[in-house]
Amino acid sequence: MKGVIGIDVGGTKIAFGAVSPAGDIILRRTIATHPDDSFDQGIARLSIGVEALLGDVGWDVKEIGGIGIGCPGPVDTEKGVILSVYTLPGWSNRAFAAPMSERFAGTPVRLENDANAALLGEAFAGAAKGKKSAVMLTLGTGVGGAVLIDGKIHVGAGGAHPELGHIPALVDGPECPCGIRGCYEIIASGPAIAEAGAAVGLTGSEEVFTAAAEGHEGAQEIIARVAKATETAVWTILHTFLPDILLFGGGIADGHWPLFEAAARKSLAAATLARDEPVTIARATLGNDAGVVGAASLVL
Ligand SMILES: [Zn+2]
Repeated sequence: MKGVIGIDVGGTKIAFGAVSPAGDIILRRTIATHPDDSFDQGIARLSIGVEALLGDVGWDVKEIGGIGIGCPGPVDTEKGVILSVYTLPGWSNRAFAAPMSERFAGTPVRLENDANAALLGEAFAGAAKGKKSAVMLTLGTGVGGAVLIDGKIHVGAGGAHPELGHIPALVDGPECPCGIRGCYEIIASGPAIAEAGAAVGLTGSEEVFTAAAEGHEGAQEIIARVAKATETAVWTILHTFLPDILLFGGGIADGHWPLFEAAARKSLAAATLARDEPVTIARATLGNDAGVVGAASLVL
């Protein structure tokens, strides 16, 4: 086996890479997701990209150990089916593993929730390596959460994964598609920050962060709300899991780490009921590669 393919499906882009048996990315590519495309168009474009990647790295499809895929939303890992994903409306309830396996000469294909895949990547070759328990929050197009207990990804009833993005974080916050108000995701995800920014005349989440740093009051309120919601979410996580390490990943947390680190540390310092030993609060070290490496680790 020369290596495996890891695929990280995101709301705006799909990253995929040829990964060595040791977990190193040998060659990495990105394509736009085009969320409005149908699922069939999406996987056709992805397959063409993966075929080109295999050609460029010089691997025959028979020489790979499999394909691992991380995808947003709840997934059925046994059947390799995406269950529901509101960031990619056309992709819900579609079998992902079977058509990919068929297209790539029957190679084993495993599907996992993207947040779980990112934590698996960090546990395999990143910040959570060697840790027995870890919780990871991934802040990007949404807010994903993953929990590692005794070295294994925690799987809920019916194969469900924890939805840490839906921890109620602000009582009077905006309504979340999940059905309640003020979820962490509806306040701290990229689109949530962008939407709050639009109400005060700003375009995109990055502009909100920049404007806040430059003294724009409306933007500062939005960012203060993100910080407050982070404190609440972290408080809940600390008291629920008491993990060895709490990791933050994803573009939003990675790009604005001081904000998230300060909020998380504030909660940790105040958490008198948590155990005495320090919980490590850290930024995911694989960055954008965590999803690809973690997806690859599914078949390594
Ligand atoms: Zn929610």
